[in-house]
Amino acid sequence: MQIKSVVAVAVSCVALASCGDPSSIPMQPTGEPPVLFGTGVVAQAATQNSTVSIPAYRNDYTIIVDGGNVTLTKKSFPYDVQKFTGLKLIKFVDRYTSLDTDGVPGQVYRLYQAAFNRKPDLTGLGFWITSAEAGNLTLETIASQFLGSSESIGLYGKEPRNEQLVAATYSNVLHRVPEQAGFDWWVAAMNNGLSKQSMLYSFSESRENKANLESAVTSGIDYAPHFTTSPDTPLAYKATILTAIQSTNIEYLPGASGRPTGTWHWSGTPLRHVLVHIPQPANSVEQDYENKVHYAISQINAKLDGLIFLKAEKSIPTNGNYILISYDTAYTPAASTNYSGFCANVSDRPYSGSPIAPDMENSIAQNPVYINLGNGRCHVSQDIVTHEFGHALGLGEHFEGFGANGTPPISGVFWDVLATLYANPRSTLVKDLMVRHAK
Ligand SMILES: [Zn+2]
Repeated sequence: MQIKSVVAVAVSCVALASCGDPSSIPMQPTGEPPVLFGTGVVAQAATQNSTVSIPAYRNDYTIIVDGGNVTLTKKSFPYDVQKFTGLKLIKFVDRYTSLDTDGVPGQVYRLYQAAFNRKPDLTGLGFWITSAEAGNLTLETIASQFLGSSESIGLYGKEPRNEQLVAATYSNVLHRVPEQAGFDWWVAAMNNGLSKQSMLYSFSESRENKANLESAVTSGIDYAPHFTTSPDTPLAYKATILTAIQSTNIEYLPGASGRPTGTWHWSGTPLRHVLVHIPQPANSVEQDYENKVHYAISQINAKLDGLIFLKAEKSIPTNGNYILISYDTAYTPAASTNYSGFCANVSDRPYSGSPIAPDMENSIAQNPVYINLGNGRCHVSQDIVTHEFGHALGLGEHFEGFGANGTPPISGVFWDVLATLYANPRSTLVKDLMVRHAK
């Protein structure tokens, strides 16, 4: 019976992939996962929960919905299995998945599909679901806004006659020619004053359309979370964030060590935890730097809450993949006497200006990443310490708001770039990045 559940996972994923769901990738061969089941270490009893936060990306998990029971299975080792009853919403780091296919999320999904005759895009869907759930917009208002868009006008016509509109609705929503009685009924209803948006909503919530779309929502409805704390982010500011990530991260060290295209950042062991080894300070200056490191760590953990977690370690971690604080070992170029201009840096070793090189395994390095603080002839400020953590976490080049062209070492843009980098899975291309704001 336990083996059966493994098979069910694989079958469901194949079905999803064939539905063209870009956010679900086919399951890897199922040779290894049964270990967990075979040893009898099966998932714990189901938890009663309406919302759960999973500190991982959507693609890290498969979701199986069976009536009121939901099973989340991590795709890679260790194969974490969690069972829930009554679950309505799963908050992954990069996506939310709603299991409320009868409620507002399901209705918005179907309306979107009806208005545009295509699978909803994640960002748009997130915006409309959030607006509807907040009570800001009714479903009919949303239908009206959809129908007023140029994309929808392209499908339904600018000012179609009622006959044309009804025929187009049958075609775009139900993907069939109308039966005469139904066609006549809807045309008569419109002639008697039924609005376009009411008709669209009725079609999208029809039993026939629900049945047609059932397989598309069988593992829940994925959407990009829309954070209402920053509803008015100007497009130019989003573009600034994306441009910065491209220059500081994606284009930095192109192709190093066979690195895949797209973003690179720490994955952390355990998940999302990055260890920071802080040596015992030997004098008052080092004591000051140690304090600043602790402050930077708590600052980053607060600003990037849920995205990454830095953990201070007094002893040297056994895993070679961690950040190592090093006192008075900052790199100064041989010909330079600009000691205050080279007061701190990030490198693969002490006294070195070599950049850190991400690799395939963990996207950073096999060895510790050094944050070299001080060179004996300068004093490192708090903002510079935090700035160096930015480099260590994957910001390779400076950008405006991160030290470039005389701008401050850290800024709001710095935090949002870092949050966006960690809110998206590694190897995300810049065109697919979802902007996330720091807290
Ligand atoms: Zn710098």
